[in-house]
Amino acid sequence: MDLVSTYSLLPLASSIVVVVLGFFVWLKRPRDMLAILFFLYCFTIALWLFGTFHLFNAAADEDAIFWDRIIYIGVNFIPIFLYHFGLIYCGITRQRAMLVAGYLCAFIFLPLTQSTLFVDGLFRYAWGVHTRAQFFHQPFLVYFFTFFIAFFVNLRMHYRSASAERKKQVKPMLVGFLILDCIGPLAFLPAYGISVYPVIFLSAIPFVLLLAYAIIRHNALDMKTISAEVFITFIAIIFSAEVFFARTTTEFLLRMIALAALISFSVLLVRGVKNEVRRREEIQQLAKDLQEANARLTELDHVKSEFLSIAAHQLRTPLSVIKGYTSMMQEGDYGSVPKEMQPILDNVYNSNEHLIHLVDDFLDISRIESGRTKYDFKPLDISVIVSNVVNELSERAKAKGLRVEVKTCEALPAVVADAEKIRHVIYNFVDNAIKYSTAGSIIVACAFTKDEVQCTVTDTGIGMDETDRENLFQKFYRGRNVQGIEVNGTGLGLFVCKKFIEAHQGRIWVESAGAGKGSVFGFSLLRTATLQQGTQSL
Ligand code: ADP
Repeated sequence: MDLVSTYSLLPLASSIVVVVLGFFVWLKRPRDMLAILFFLYCFTIALWLFGTFHLFNAAADEDAIFWDRIIYIGVNFIPIFLYHFGLIYCGITRQRAMLVAGYLCAFIFLPLTQSTLFVDGLFRYAWGVHTRAQFFHQPFLVYFFTFFIAFFVNLRMHYRSASAERKKQVKPMLVGFLILDCIGPLAFLPAYGISVYPVIFLSAIPFVLLLAYAIIRHNALDMKTISAEVFITFIAIIFSAEVFFARTTTEFLLRMIALAALISFSVLLVRGVKNEVRRREEIQQLAKDLQEANARLTELDHVKSEFLSIAAHQLRTPLSVIKGYTSMMQEGDYGSVPKEMQPILDNVYNSNEHLIHLVDDFLDISRIESGRTKYDFKPLDISVIVSNVVNELSERAKAKGLRVEVKTCEALPAVVADAEKIRHVIYNFVDNAIKYSTAGSIIVACAFTKDEVQCTVTDTGIGMDETDRENLFQKFYRGRNVQGIEVNGTGLGLFVCKKFIEAHQGRIWVESAGAGKGSVFGFSLLRTATLQQGTQSL
C-alpha cells in the first residue's frame, strides 16, 4: 500500500468514528435539539470524509467527480448546521431570519453542487486528484464562510457575557475554533489549483471533537461512556470487515469466533464503564445533597443563634432588676425581713444568679458566633485575677466542705490579655471544680516558662474518662461523668472558655487520671502574643 492510499484510509476511519460518535451522543438525548444537530453535523462531516477516501482512490475521472459531488452534499450543510448548533448552544433567539436564510442557501446550493456549473474537470497533484471549481463554487464559498464566521462571532459574544463557570466551558471551544477556522477552509484550495497536503481534510475531526466536548459539557453527558462506546464500535466495525475478507472457511470461522468474543467483551466493558459512571454520579448527587443539607443546617443554626441572642438580651435586664431588689430586701433596705423569709430570699437570689449565669453564657455564645465579641487587651497580672475569683467563690467552696488553695509564684510576668475574659475562664474552672467535687481540695496555681504564663485548677472531684476529655470543649457537651449525678449545667461554659483563650492565641486543656480521680483544667497565654484590640470573629 503506497503513501497516498494509506492517507486515504485515515478519512475512511475518521468518517466511521465521526458517525458513531454523533450517533451515540444523539442516542443519549434523542429529543435534544443540540444532540440532533450534532448528529446531523457529524453525518455531513462523515460524508465529506467518506467521499474524500473514494476521491483519493478514484480509478477514473468520472469516479473522482462523482465522489466529489457526494462530498459536497455533506459540505453544503456544514456551515448551516454549525451555525444552528451555535445559536442553540449560546441560547440566541434573535437570529431567526439569518437562520432561515442559511437553510434556504443550503437547499438552493444542494442541486447546484451536483451540476457541472459547480465542479467539473480535474487537477492532478502528487497526492491524488481533485475536482476543479466552476462558477457557482464562488458564491457557495461566500455562503460557507458567512455562516462559518457568524457561528464564531456568536460564540465569541456568548463567551464575553458568560459567567466565570460557563467561560471555562466555552473557552476551549473558542480557541479550538479559532485555530480550525484558519486551517479547515484550506481544504478548498485544491479546487483552485493550489496543492494542499491531503491531511488537511482531517481538520474535520477536531471540529467534531470540539462540538462533542461542548455538547457533553453543556448537557452533562458522560464523556467516559460515550468514548468507550465509540471506541468499541469502531473496533467492532473494523473487525467485522476483516471477517468478510477471510480467504478460507477456517479463517472465516476463527474470525467469527474472535468477533463474537470481542463483542461480548465490549458489552461487558461498556456495562462496567456505565456502572462506574452511574456510581460516580450517585456519589456526586449525594455530595450535592449533603452540601445543600449542610447549607440549610448552617442557616438554621444561624437563625437559632439569632433567636437565642434576642431572647437572652430581653431576659438580661429583668434579671438584673430582680437581682438588685432581692439583694436590697436581703439587706433590709425595705424594712427588716422576718426570719422565716430569709432562706426564701436567699433562694430567690441564688436561682436568679443561676439564670443570669445561663443568660450570660448564651449571650457570649451568640457574640462569639456572630463575631461580635469585643476584646480589650492590656497587660495584666493573672495572679490578681486568681485571688479575686477565689475570694468570690471561697464561701461556696467552704459550704461544700472544700478547701481552696492558691499557689501563685512570685514575679509572675504580666501578659497582654482581656482581664474580663480571663476572669471568666478562671471563674468557670474554679466554679466547675466546686460543682464537680464533693470533698477534698482545690488548688489554683499560676506558673510561667520563658514563653508562656500558665494557670491550672486542680480538683479532687469526679474526674473523667478519655471520651469526656476529648469532647469537653464542644458546645453543649455534658460529660458522661455527670450522668446520674444531680448537678445542673448546660455544657456551654468550657466552650466559651476555649473560644476566649483561642482569641488570645493561647492553649486550653484538661487532664484527668480517670473517673473519680480528680481533674486538672488549665490554660496558658503567650508572653509575646501580638493581639489586636477590638472585635474578633472566631
Ligand atoms: P456545665 O458545667 O454547665 O455542664 P461546662 O462546659 O462548664 O458545662 O462543662 C462541660 C462538662 O465538662 C461538664 O458537664 C462536666 O461533664 C465536665 N466538667 C467540667 N468541669 C469538670 C470538673 N472540674 N470535673 C469533672 N468534670 C468536669
